Amino acid sequence: MLVNLQFLGAAGTVTGSRYLLESDGVRVLVDCGLFQGSKALRERNWRGIPIHPSELDAVLLTHAHLDHSGGLPVLVSRGFEGKVFATTATAELVEPLLRDAGHLQEHEADYANFKGYAKHRPARPLFTVAEARSAITRMRPTPFHQPMVLGPHFSAHFRRAGHLLGAASVHFALAGEQGTRRVLFSGDVGRSNGVLHLPPERLPAVDYLICEGTYGDRKHPNVDPKDALADVVSRAANRQGALIIPAFAAGRTQEVLYLLRQLEEEGRIPSLPVFVDSPLALECTSAYLRFARELKFGALGATDGRAMWPSRTRFCSSVADSKAINAVEGPCIILSSSGMATGGRVLFHLRRRLSDPRTTVMFVGFMAEGTRGRSLVEGAPEVKIHGRYLPVRAEVIELQGFSAHADQDDLVAWIEGAEAPPGEIFITHAEPAAASALVARLRQRGLRARAARDGERVTLA
Ligand SMILES: [Zn+2]
Repeated sequence: MLVNLQFLGAAGTVTGSRYLLESDGVRVLVDCGLFQGSKALRERNWRGIPIHPSELDAVLLTHAHLDHSGGLPVLVSRGFEGKVFATTATAELVEPLLRDAGHLQEHEADYANFKGYAKHRPARPLFTVAEARSAITRMRPTPFHQPMVLGPHFSAHFRRAGHLLGAASVHFALAGEQGTRRVLFSGDVGRSNGVLHLPPERLPAVDYLICEGTYGDRKHPNVDPKDALADVVSRAANRQGALIIPAFAAGRTQEVLYLLRQLEEEGRIPSLPVFVDSPLALECTSAYLRFARELKFGALGATDGRAMWPSRTRFCSSVADSKAINAVEGPCIILSSSGMATGGRVLFHLRRRLSDPRTTVMFVGFMAEGTRGRSLVEGAPEVKIHGRYLPVRAEVIELQGFSAHADQDDLVAWIEGAEAPPGEIFITHAEPAAASALVARLRQRGLRARAARDGERVTLA
């Protein structure tokens, strides 16, 4: 039995997760993610994969983030006709995320055509809302641990990875004459002490482990995000100003709401009006609520919104609801996307309040180079929003302690805690420095590890 694995993305970089696994004439793709970041990376989204999509039997998604799922509409529109397996929660979360991404792509193409700056004329979206919807019809929601039969000797199941609602590792079993080969793709590995997401399940005994290494060379600061948040909210409330939190709609928004709820209950912050200004965040929060049992607050026996968000929370769906927030005076909290302030409704709130010294702007998580969020946390005296420069008089804070990814210590502990040491480890989903640091540490522990190379094809004997 020959098993071939090819790294078609997220090798030497942190986006574009896609791995091709072939055995016995069965071909599956683990993840079908978008490349994000530099222009050279983004252009790879148009190139597709080296085989015709119709030759693929199935796709297995580890989780809903677009760098793992956002290539699906393109794959389907180019001829993929198989099933897309994902955990039940991932299937629910990926639907609004793909639709929203399609909407954004269409909007950007229209805008480029209107402004006449498109390189390709007319500018085309990478995929449309209709293509996103058609990809969603291929989804086959599959509970954790339920076997998926992919071929006569080829099966798999999902295991909890933490990280995000529904996030999974994929465990493959490939039966042959010399016994069964076990291959596990980690997906994105969550932290052992996440705010809302449960820790990853114990790693089983496997012959090959394909493991993410986003933070393979770093340790997360030892900060409790709850204490840090309590501090920021109290200061903002004392100043009688708004606290604006640009936050990604899935995961981060729910974590912040949950911590605010706890702080309010414990009397550590005043009960303030909280506006969640994003239709996408509303849809994602509903998914979090439906799958409460898979999260930490579900374990507390609380499965309604009262346990999940502060008492004075309002979800703003319509544009009118969003505009109405402009009239709010006095202390309040506004959660809105995009998380790096590159677009979305949060820009309207920044435009309205950034030059008011009573305002606090709190960024949560990593700010990529070249984003408005990065300029603000680096202390820019003014930023351009909707074509106008605005002086920054608000207090800008970068809240530490939130990360959805395991750091180096977490990853090493997860791997060392396996039922048996993995036979061989390939590090993916990491910048080269992070991958080599993690590889070095794993080798010190006597493990066989190396960084995956982009496009590389390996035979798993
Ligand atoms: Zn992720």
